[in-house]
Amino acid sequence: MSPSAVSSTPSPGVQASELTASAVAQKIGASANLQPLDASKLIFTKTQTPMAVPEPGDPIIATSSQCTDHMITAVWDSTVGWHAPKLQPYGNLSLPPTASVLHYATECFEGMKMYRGYDGKLRLFRPDANCKRMLVSATRISLPAFDPSELEKLIKAMIAIDGPKWLPKSRPGTSLYLRPTMIGSAGALGVSTPKEATLFVISTFMPNLSKPKGLRLLASQNGIRAWPGGFGYAKVGANYGPSLMANGEAISRGYDQVLWLLNGMVTEAGASNFFVVWRTREGVIQLVTAPLEDKIILDGVTRRSILQLARERLTIEVVERAYTMDEIVDAIKEKRMIEAFAAGTAYFVCPVSAINYRDQDWQIPMNQGDSGDYAALIKSWLMNIMYGRDEHEWGVVVEENEEL
Ligand SMILES: *Cc1c(COP(=O)(O)O)cnc(C)c1O
Repeated sequence: MSPSAVSSTPSPGVQASELTASAVAQKIGASANLQPLDASKLIFTKTQTPMAVPEPGDPIIATSSQCTDHMITAVWDSTVGWHAPKLQPYGNLSLPPTASVLHYATECFEGMKMYRGYDGKLRLFRPDANCKRMLVSATRISLPAFDPSELEKLIKAMIAIDGPKWLPKSRPGTSLYLRPTMIGSAGALGVSTPKEATLFVISTFMPNLSKPKGLRLLASQNGIRAWPGGFGYAKVGANYGPSLMANGEAISRGYDQVLWLLNGMVTEAGASNFFVVWRTREGVIQLVTAPLEDKIILDGVTRRSILQLARERLTIEVVERAYTMDEIVDAIKEKRMIEAFAAGTAYFVCPVSAINYRDQDWQIPMNQGDSGDYAALIKSWLMNIMYGRDEHEWGVVVEENEEL
């Protein structure tokens, strides 16, 4: 039994979409002699000091720091495997200063939301996809494997308890952010696969990030976010800290986010996927976004959902291919640009109004004033699923523990 069984059989560059049931089984099998993550062993410790739920508009919401009463934690170590997970009061973690994550960024995370539907039900949006992607990210950063469906059960157990209070039925159409995270918590300074890891799931309020005037993007000139053979496809903390410098520059120059280019190719906007709608010179309307194959971009659940809905419900061409900022500029100059938008859990579907490229601002049409037609339509489709106006397999209802 090797403590680094998972990382010694790396599968670099596996996208969540490629993670078939057999691939998951294989990853988990690599640590077959260790205890698997098992949600049925969850140990409940309820808080004795419940917190107050902020009212809408409370300034604490803008800080993204207000968590709910509880969190999930689960510790893995290289001799036992996964210990019994816990649902416990939200609180600080205790880590040795030698903890792997603090030095070598052995960390991965997920971002998802729970939604209070107009029918009063609590839903997650495609939680299976987030949990599988978390396994992809964990594998990339040499953290232990787990069965994604067990993580999904743990997330549901937590929101069954915190959902009724923190996302009350009296506030339909609202959401709370969920942050499953895994860190290398072993205290050892050697640069090696951590012998202990800690999984936790917390939930926070998140401010509404929508931009009524559209997102203004600064195309990256010097910095690159991800590169061939790198880890841009994984949601690992190591992708984000180093992006803050470029993001700070964008904000200081009056833009909202960086549009990440790689050799002139358009990849992502901030921590969201990026889409354009244009008319080709042949007159064909296309929805275009960067491809997954080269493993530069994050395999967004929102991205994947938009592509699938567009293929099912729109008559325009849907294209995943490498494309350049110069092609966007040409489309704008030739009045073929229809709209552009960023898409991800945090920003949701966010229309883009301008891109600065080589010190020139290029305006992107938003023909409804605050959005283009396609972004508005796609956004409404997704919201209808998330908030239960459309019955859809992607909107997963979570049973709530009402008596608490
Ligand atoms: C999280 C993230 C996205 C969006 O993914 P979703 O699953 O749609 O939330 C896109 N790009 C990057 C870099 C991200 O970190």
